[in-house]
Amino acid sequence: MSATVAKLIEGVGQADAMIALYDPAGLILFANPAFRRAFFLGPDERIDWVSMMRRNHAHRRGPIVSHDDFEVWLSSSLSRRGKVPSLSIETDMHDGTWLHIVEQTLPDGHILFTALDITRLGESERALRQERDIALKSASTDPLTGLSNRAHIMELLGCRIMALQAGRSTDTAAMLIDLDHFKQVNDRFGHVAGDQVLQAFARTVRAGLRTCDAFGRIGGEEFLILFPDQGIADAETAVGRLRDEVREVSVIATQPDFRIDFSAGMTMVRADDTVSTVYTRTDRALYAAKAEGRGRLKLVG
Ligand code: GH3
Ligand code: MG
Ligand code: MG
Repeated sequence: MSATVAKLIEGVGQADAMIALYDPAGLILFANPAFRRAFFLGPDERIDWVSMMRRNHAHRRGPIVSHDDFEVWLSSSLSRRGKVPSLSIETDMHDGTWLHIVEQTLPDGHILFTALDITRLGESERALRQERDIALKSASTDPLTGLSNRAHIMELLGCRIMALQAGRSTDTAAMLIDLDHFKQVNDRFGHVAGDQVLQAFARTVRAGLRTCDAFGRIGGEEFLILFPDQGIADAETAVGRLRDEVREVSVIATQPDFRIDFSAGMTMVRADDTVSTVYTRTDRALYAAKAEGRGRLKLVG
């Protein structure tokens, strides 16, 4: 190791700035002492971002979650994390400090995290900037599930197409999902139960996806998932796993035995695609899955 690199590492170890590196799956590969103090990580502890946030939230420490429902907050944060080149946010901490966080997604999907304590900046300015962050987040979020909304997931699909055109990305699989017989849920158990089903479905699937996968609600009980850098075979395996998990989970609080399933249509995104041509192909495949009896995945080239 050169003397310069050694000095750099020593400096990062002593810095007031919080510095960390996550792998594409969200696992913390490196965190300096300032980061470990702020986010309550042990000296050599290596966990993933979701587990860290969940644990800190349970202990009411670390960042303050700006939403009544932690799971919705989590999926809304995950809808942007690792999917945009750079994310800049300001957050209140339970200890009364205020952090300015910048998360940069590196070309290979690793995430470089840096944060500074900016508690001393003026209150009024701070409130204004936080309102801006909240507005930005809600403009891209579906309020019921916390997932990307239609506009945001389509924007992310557009980004994947541009990455393919620029040769910066290999394969991306796109999959449209529609819950099966969802109207019956509303008819039998009411609209509130229907909403619970949508939330439970979103939470279950989100938990089974990688950080780099994008997941959005198109509308009603229709969802779109993007699997970057995955071919059809890998994406198919992932969907099989997701289906097993969805079929297992109890989705209505008052009906513990009730289960749901879904139909899905998948296609590979191509460099000559537009958002609309991708959506049309997945929709065609989804239609075929419904026609063949539901509860299955169909592919279209
Ligand atoms: P299929 O298997 O063919 O998809 O049947 P389906 O019953 O799922 O399909 P259909 O499109 O006929 O019904 C969708 C239903 O979704 C109708 C609508 O009342 C309901 N819905 C749409 N958005 C929401 C929502 O936000 N909350 C609730 N509770 N229901 C919704
Ligand atoms: Mg349906
Ligand atoms: Mg539908």
